[in-house]
Amino acid sequence: MQQINTKCLIIGSGPAGYTAAIYTSRANLSPVMYVGHQPGGQLTTTTEVENFPGYHNGVTGTQLMDDLHKQASRFGADIRTGIITDIDLTQRPFVAHADDGTEIVAQTVIISTGATARYLGLPDEDRYKGMGVSACATCDGFFYRGRRVAVVGGGDTACEEALYLSNIASEVYLIVRKNHLRASKVMQRRVVEKPNIHILFNTNTEGLYGAEFLEGAHLVEHIGTDNERHYDLPVDGFFLAIGHTPNTELFRPHIALDDTGYIKTFDHSTATNIPGVFAAGDVADPHYRQAITAAGSGCKAALDTERFLNEQA
Ligand code: NDP
Repeated sequence: MQQINTKCLIIGSGPAGYTAAIYTSRANLSPVMYVGHQPGGQLTTTTEVENFPGYHNGVTGTQLMDDLHKQASRFGADIRTGIITDIDLTQRPFVAHADDGTEIVAQTVIISTGATARYLGLPDEDRYKGMGVSACATCDGFFYRGRRVAVVGGGDTACEEALYLSNIASEVYLIVRKNHLRASKVMQRRVVEKPNIHILFNTNTEGLYGAEFLEGAHLVEHIGTDNERHYDLPVDGFFLAIGHTPNTELFRPHIALDDTGYIKTFDHSTATNIPGVFAAGDVADPHYRQAITAAGSGCKAALDTERFLNEQA
């Protein structure tokens, strides 16, 4: 077993993790970063990012992450493919193990593990996963060329997925449980203006059907009212876009979480309840969840880490 010692272990590789890696390497902390299950994080499953400052023509999520990776590497961050499988946060230095067999002894830890797409919880979702059910239009949209698909959700993600799919599929049905969209006005306008996107307001999904592959969804409109109506919508693809769950499993039970499962940070900083452990990005942010806010908090986590180590010296 290989053992490495580091001043700072960064877990997760979205905009928060990479920004923390850039700042900690420039501060001479020689960070070690494990990129996790989804190298580059959620942005690698998105299409065009138009609101990250500095990219005036927009940039793909993959390109943005690639740029951040190169920038962190340039300053010497030790960026490793793989996942951290366990970590002992009960005493410092913290001891973690990675799936490549490495033991990492770290004076500080920056958690930037992000969040994962949420599913409705219907048993049928599991049955048709990979056979019509997906939570990533940019990953799987290609398979639905000229076919009919549904997207569940009314936020920016759902609108973005619906718009992306509208250029591939013949018809896109946006299933929205309320009578309005939560998405930003600009996204709402784009969706409404697309002739092949049909918004189904006040609609919930009760189940899915199909012999082997997905063939459609059982829907209910105006549930619980006098106008309640059950009907089937034939679709070949069913895309979930109903929000995310923070990836905190590895750090329980020691790390303090809020009521919705996000890591709690204290004193307007990235400090968690454990001295020497900091949290950045979506794993600690139920509110903003933007690439730029994640990057900003990655910077804060790096500065908090540096100060913490200076105080210990
Ligand atoms: P949101 O939490 O904003 O939206 C989730 C949507 O899913 C809501 O419409 C919600 O409905 C619906 N929903 C949740 N649970 C269920 C359920 N069980 N059944 C049916 N519908 C459900 O998540 P997003 O992922 O869309 O966005 C997260 C953040 O990321 C936001 O701040 C957003 O602005 C940002 N974002 C920005 C983008 C950009 O700027 N390019 C792109 C994508 C996201 P209800 O409204 O009824 O609660």
